[in-house]
Amino acid sequence: MGNKTKAWENYIRKVTPYVPGEQPKDTFLKLNTNENPYPPAPGVQRVLSNIDADILRLYPDPSIGLLVDELARFYNVDNDRVFVGVGSDDVLAVAFLTFFNSDKPILFPDITYSFYPVYCELYRIPYETQPLDKDFRIVREDYHKDNGGVVIANPNAPTSVYEEVSTIEDIILHNPDSVVIIDEAYIDFAGESALKLIDRYENLLVVQTFSKSRSMAGMRIGYAIGSPKLIKALNDVKYSINSYTMNQTAILAGVESVRDREYFNDKIKCLLDIRKESEETFRKLGFSFPESGANFLFVTHDYIPAKELYEVLRENRIYVRYFDQPRINNHLRITIGSREQMNMLFEFLDNYINNR
Ligand code: PMP
Repeated sequence: MGNKTKAWENYIRKVTPYVPGEQPKDTFLKLNTNENPYPPAPGVQRVLSNIDADILRLYPDPSIGLLVDELARFYNVDNDRVFVGVGSDDVLAVAFLTFFNSDKPILFPDITYSFYPVYCELYRIPYETQPLDKDFRIVREDYHKDNGGVVIANPNAPTSVYEEVSTIEDIILHNPDSVVIIDEAYIDFAGESALKLIDRYENLLVVQTFSKSRSMAGMRIGYAIGSPKLIKALNDVKYSINSYTMNQTAILAGVESVRDREYFNDKIKCLLDIRKESEETFRKLGFSFPESGANFLFVTHDYIPAKELYEVLRENRIYVRYFDQPRINNHLRITIGSREQMNMLFEFLDNYINNR
């Protein structure tokens, strides 16, 4: 007994976990985890309403065939190029484990999705971060050196900055000996996807998600598209951990979402309209931000510290994301919500800024 460390405690795998955005219940406005304000496609609701609980007696299809085929059709690729997982976090976790097994460090930007260093620590993958420039842009030459792999979020989080596919291609071209993962969680709100390159580069893996543009963060669906070699390697590892990753409900709901192209395109357009209007209002209130390719803005105020704003918003049950880390501790990451939500936020900010 007592506090003495037991021998077995020395053999516990120690890791500092990723801290996900809060999911508080008492929110007035929840703009902290980049969820989509619109509901999923109507077909998703139909499927959920009609599900017979008896299907749950049976294990789901381990190959996730229905959803793999639907995504393959959507992206016009063969189905041996598609891997599906439990949100893109799961896909990324399997991908890091599968592809980053060199003694050389993997490379990613100093400011990016904070899950990457956590996977590295968990799997004991050496890594080296590459500083973004002062405008939060990638310095492509930083990725022209020897490495054990590359992972780039594009658009990047939390900065919202989108890099052109030509930059991504340059990085791939300089890394023929590594797997290059492009994490495109927010790509549907930006420009062109690196998917257009997958026929040309066998070492490119593009990862996307249903959590943002498809309004299905609660369902947990992510996927990767790449060469058949990469997809087979991912499946081999997946089948070595848990064969039945996707539940029946998620598979059926996911298929319906992908089928409804019109709803998908329409809701992205609506969100981009709100983003544009919000940019104007943020500017009027004294905020600036890099051009966003995502469903959030990374804002900094002319004279009010981000931490102060974060705290006062929080006291009023308005949740946004603040990162207390070097270079970005005077910024807030604010999700683009519905027009009504944004108006409530702006009303609050206007009032606070003018009466401070
Ligand atoms: N990649 C990036 C860059 C993200 O911001 C997120 C969302 N936190 C994810 C991946 C993971 O999203 P999900 O697991 O919901 O697909």
